[in-house]
Amino acid sequence: MSDQEFMRALGYANAAFDLLKRSGIPPYPQFYELLYTYATGVNPTLNNRINTIFRNGAAPSQDLVETLYNEFLKSDVNDRMSSVSERMHARIEAVHDAIDAAMTTANAYSGSLQSATGDLEHELSPEMIRQLAGRLLAETRRMQDTNSELERQLESSRDDIAALQRDLDDVRRESMLDPLTKIANRKSLDEGLAEAIREAAETGAPLSLMLVDIDHFKTFNDTYGHQTGDQVLRLVAMTLKSNIKGKDLAARYGGEEFVAVLPSTDMEGAVIVAENVRKAIQAKELLKRSTNEKLGRITASFGVARFHPTDNAMSLIERADRCLYAAKHAGRNRVVSESELVELGGGGSSASAA
Ligand code: GH3
Ligand code: MG
Ligand code: MG
Repeated sequence: MSDQEFMRALGYANAAFDLLKRSGIPPYPQFYELLYTYATGVNPTLNNRINTIFRNGAAPSQDLVETLYNEFLKSDVNDRMSSVSERMHARIEAVHDAIDAAMTTANAYSGSLQSATGDLEHELSPEMIRQLAGRLLAETRRMQDTNSELERQLESSRDDIAALQRDLDDVRRESMLDPLTKIANRKSLDEGLAEAIREAAETGAPLSLMLVDIDHFKTFNDTYGHQTGDQVLRLVAMTLKSNIKGKDLAARYGGEEFVAVLPSTDMEGAVIVAENVRKAIQAKELLKRSTNEKLGRITASFGVARFHPTDNAMSLIERADRCLYAAKHAGRNRVVSESELVELGGGGSSASAA
């Protein structure tokens, strides 16, 4: 963490504490997390909601803060993960208990057998032999009972563990998706891109990367509200996803930016894909769901870079970002590829295109 990042995080932390203090909200970790997130501004929908509350005068109540936390931050994935882990624990405990019981019985059984062997070394009356046999029979039954209990436990464990396995797979799959758009999140992008780069470096096959940024999205949000903005993000994500295929990966990079990783695709191919996505986004006439009000159209700008043997994920994304920046500067709603960068005179800065 650089000094600058440290200072920024500290600033968010202080802002969160101030808000907690001012509103008299208990500084529990989850409420702190909520207001820290608010301070960072990464979730405009959340900020919008909290701003409305503050604007209406009253400080938010604990109930309201709790509702917001559950809605925006409480991770379903975490919950399900803990539930799977709890069930796993309970199951393991039950099997342990059954094994313990079986072992205790087996030990007792072995003790009885030993003492019976000792008894048999002496002269025994028929009555005593009958008693001995009766005792051994009872012990054997008890032993059989605990064994069948153990068997039953193991059997139901097998089914349970299979169900748990499926749950874990679901949780894992979900943890790779962006909750809003349901396409790959940053984490799966990092993994997928690293894998694609490894493969391209190994096989020498081409690899292209496309960055997409919605044009003037801030204005759109300000005009129509964040919830409608969220709908647009879903629409763009779906449009991107439906225009790629096979091993391609579409991911939400952050806010209103998306990435497509295109293995086995050269620059020319990647530009065609980007153009298709661009036209498809532009062609969609937006309607507000609740009122059917026409919202016009949105456009997006694209930067396309090609993998070079010396690239890593960061340098590749950075070049695509420079192309995107050039596309914004050249008037938006267009695709700029690495090979066009020079012509357009872009590429000066890799900072945000905003
Ligand atoms: P440009 O054409 O230069 O890209 O302009 P822009 O307004 O799109 O760019 P800027 O980076 O200034 O604003 C990005 C906006 O995206 C800010 C925020 O309102 C919006 N945004 C980011 N994440 C979300 C989100 O999860 N939901 C919604 N509704 N809006 C978001
Ligand atoms: Mg942006
Ligand atoms: Mg934008």
